[in-house]
Amino acid sequence: MRVLLVEDDELLGDGARAGLLQVGYSVDWLKDGLAAKHALETETFDIIVLDLGLPKLAGLELLRHIRAQGVATPVIILTARESVEDKIKGLDAGADDYISKPFDLDELYARIRALLRRRSNRAQPIIAFANLELDPASHTVKCDNELVSLPRREFALLHKLLENAGQVLSRDQLMQSLYSWDEEVDSNTLEVHIHNLRKKLDADYIRTIRGVGYMVEKR
Ligand code: CA
Repeated sequence: MRVLLVEDDELLGDGARAGLLQVGYSVDWLKDGLAAKHALETETFDIIVLDLGLPKLAGLELLRHIRAQGVATPVIILTARESVEDKIKGLDAGADDYISKPFDLDELYARIRALLRRRSNRAQPIIAFANLELDPASHTVKCDNELVSLPRREFALLHKLLENAGQVLSRDQLMQSLYSWDEEVDSNTLEVHIHNLRKKLDADYIRTIRGVGYMVEKR
């Protein structure tokens, strides 16, 4: 899962970026509203974490703009603890949630998980599929009730595929969800991850859609 973090505070941004990377997200961190606006014209993200007080283009304006453009990506705004007004304005401009600064990283992760869950209309925190159970909170996968250890990217890929079961995901969508734009990636990386997942999980339900990408068949 890929997060766009828009925050001009170096310390806070650096901490959030490092934390999100550590728990398995790929992260693109931008420090002004205009750069984020441009990024959102060409890239897709799974979650946007957006500060409101930003140079060049304010967070609230950016939020209104992307919603008007039809970008439906869940947005968590970062607000000052005391500012009820910011929270209301943000939510009314299209934010899905807010978190008050200074915030606890664990709370941010939990809010992200909750938004991803809501987006995929899932009632249960754990994603159950065929003989699999994937727990986004503990980052664990069980296959036939046995824990399977997956590297970070394979876990993220499986998570993305399961969250979108029944839909074809293009190679581009999957790659964008796995890697931030400053990462160098081999052209066959995705195929290697898919191959590993199929082998480790005996996952014949991950289908190759020739010339397009991959999908997990709905069961
Ligand atoms: Ca700021």
